[in-house]
Amino acid sequence: MLFSLFARGLIFMIFISGSLVIGYSITRLIAYLIPYPQFSEIFLWSGAVMLSAVMLMGVAYSYVYKGFGSQADITRRNPTAGNKVVLTFDDGPSEAFTPEILKILAEKKVFATFFLVGKHVEQYPEIARQIVDQGHEVGNHTYGHITVPNSPPPQLTAQIMRTNLIILQQAGTYPLYLRPPRGLYDMRMRRIAKLLGQELVLWSLSSQDWHPRATTAGVIRRVLDRVSPGDIILFHDSGSLLNSEGSSRRPTVEALGPIIDGLREKGLDVVKLEDFLALRK
Ligand SMILES: [Zn+2]
Repeated sequence: MLFSLFARGLIFMIFISGSLVIGYSITRLIAYLIPYPQFSEIFLWSGAVMLSAVMLMGVAYSYVYKGFGSQADITRRNPTAGNKVVLTFDDGPSEAFTPEILKILAEKKVFATFFLVGKHVEQYPEIARQIVDQGHEVGNHTYGHITVPNSPPPQLTAQIMRTNLIILQQAGTYPLYLRPPRGLYDMRMRRIAKLLGQELVLWSLSSQDWHPRATTAGVIRRVLDRVSPGDIILFHDSGSLLNSEGSSRRPTVEALGPIIDGLREKGLDVVKLEDFLALRK
């Protein structure tokens, strides 16, 4: 715990100082290239601080938390799955988008995994039931889409156990998988998962459909350009909880059919998570 805190602090310091060095070098270079060398040192440093702030924001924006050390209990992809890939949908069920997604999956004869938010299952139990009845798998995505590392221990445990119970009662199945919101987990969550017989499943390719400016074409392109065999692909079937309440998942719905077709054209086979994980060596 102490080491992990120390390591985080150290990495943070390296990032800050590294970005300052790069920022200062860039402003120096610009000052050198401009033929009027009257820039003061203060001016150069404020430029450097601004540049490094922009760089840090960029890093924070694109950062995916990987944790420290070996993590055999966390699955992001399966390099031994042959030509197989898996589709996953987070944050649902939602009244607006989940039924449409289920319809497309049925038409294309594809099974996916839905990581459900407990609160949303309480809101739309019949949609959660429909997901399971159509043969899809479900996972736990906490009760209120919490940020796991910030939550006090009793709250974290309750968030997970309560959601397991709600899914079991409403959808008639015990979720064998657990996915922390935004991929942010910690040691406690890994222990709870083990205790409850659940596997932590993250993703290796995000469709970035959560982005407020996501477009159908952009989501299709992102997935089909970047996909490789063994990927676990992330989508969202609910607009709430991320960004503003009610943010649209229309691009996800519209991109899904073309993405499934595109994956098949690439010779990739969309399979159930259970079958995909069984191919691990
Ligand atoms: Zn989520």
